Amino acid sequence: MIDPFGRAITYLRVSVTDRCDLRCVYCMAEDMHFLPKKDVLSLEELDRICAAFIRMGTTKIRLTGGEPLVRRGVISLFRSLGTRIGTGGLNELTVTTNGTQLAKHAEALVAAGVRRVNVSLDTLDPARFTAITRWGKIEPTLDGIFAAKAAGLAVKINAVAMKGVNEGEFDTMLAWCGEHGFDLCLIETMPMGEISEDRTEQYLPLSIVRSRLRKHWTLEDTDYRTGGPARYFNVAETGRRIGFITPMTHNFCESCNRVRLTCTGTLFMCLGQDDDADLRAVMRAGASDAELDDAIREAISRKPKGHDFVIDRRHDQPAVARHMSVTGG
Ligand code: SAM
Ligand code: SF4
Repeated sequence: MIDPFGRAITYLRVSVTDRCDLRCVYCMAEDMHFLPKKDVLSLEELDRICAAFIRMGTTKIRLTGGEPLVRRGVISLFRSLGTRIGTGGLNELTVTTNGTQLAKHAEALVAAGVRRVNVSLDTLDPARFTAITRWGKIEPTLDGIFAAKAAGLAVKINAVAMKGVNEGEFDTMLAWCGEHGFDLCLIETMPMGEISEDRTEQYLPLSIVRSRLRKHWTLEDTDYRTGGPARYFNVAETGRRIGFITPMTHNFCESCNRVRLTCTGTLFMCLGQDDDADLRAVMRAGASDAELDDAIREAISRKPKGHDFVIDRRHDQPAVARHMSVTGG
C-alpha cells in the first residue's frame, strides 16, 4: 500500500480498548466516559482487519490502547496474529503497555511470538508515579517490566517529558535503563484531547533535555531507526540507546509508514488529523474480504501529508479532540 506521497504503509497500530486502569494526566481526563461494548470491535473483528492489512503488505503490528492488557481475552488476539509471523507476512508483533498486567502476561506474549515490548514509565519515584497516573502504584509496573525481561522480551521504556514534573529524573532513568539493559525513549507531550490541565505548562522541548543529558552522558549519533518518529543515540557509558520523539520541535511526517485503527474500527490515517475511515460499518454491513481490502485502500489514498500540532499560548485547544488513548499513540 503506497500513499499519495509515495510512503509505503507497512505498520498498523491497533488500539484494542479505550479503557485503562490508570489516568495519566497528559493522556486522559480524570472523569473519562468509556465506550459501550457494542461499539467496540470483537477480538475476531480486530483480527479480521489485521489480516486484511497483512494481506496488503503490512509487516508490523503493534497492539496498544487504552491499556491493551486490560482487555479480556486479548492474549487470544496476540496468539492468532502470532501465527502470521514469518511466512504469513508479518515480521513483527509488539505491544505498548503501562506494564501493570505484564507480570501476568509476559510468558504468554513470548509464546505468541512477541519479542519486544514498550512499557510506559515516566518516573522512578513512587509518589510521582501516583501523581502522574492520578492513582496508580509503581510496583505492578516495575514487576511487569522485570517479568518481561525475565521472559526474554526486549524492553523499551517510554517516558513523556513534563516540565516541572519529571524533568530532573532523566539522568537517573538513563542510568537505571543502562543497568537493566533497557532502551529509553523520551516523548514530547502532544496536544490531543481535553485533559483538564494546561498543556503549555507541561510542554518541555526535548532539545533542552538532550543538551542537559549531554553534560553527563556521551550521546553518539546513530542511524538506527525503528521505522518510527524517534531519533536514536547510542549512550556510550551504558551501551544502550536513547530515543527522542519530538513531534513539536521536529516534524517526523515525511517518513511516516503507519496508520492507526481504534477499537471501534475507525482508521485514522494520521495521529494529528481528524480524517478517518469507518471499517466497522463496512464489516458489519457484510463486506467480503475483497470489499474490506478496497475500503482500506481507499482510506490510504486519503493519508495526509502531516500533522499540524502546535502548543503555545495562542492555541489553547487541542489539535485534535480525541485523546491519545483512542489511537494509542
Ligand atoms: N496504556 C499504554 C501505555 O501507557 O503505554 C498504551 C497506550 S498510551 C496512549 C501510548 C503512549 O502514548 C504512552 O507511552 C503514553 O505515555 C503516550 N501518550 C499518551 N498521551 C500522550 C500525549 N498527550 N502526548 C505524548 N504522549 C502521550
Ligand atoms: Fe492509560 Fe497509557 Fe493513557 Fe496512561 S498513557 S492513561 S496508561 S492509556
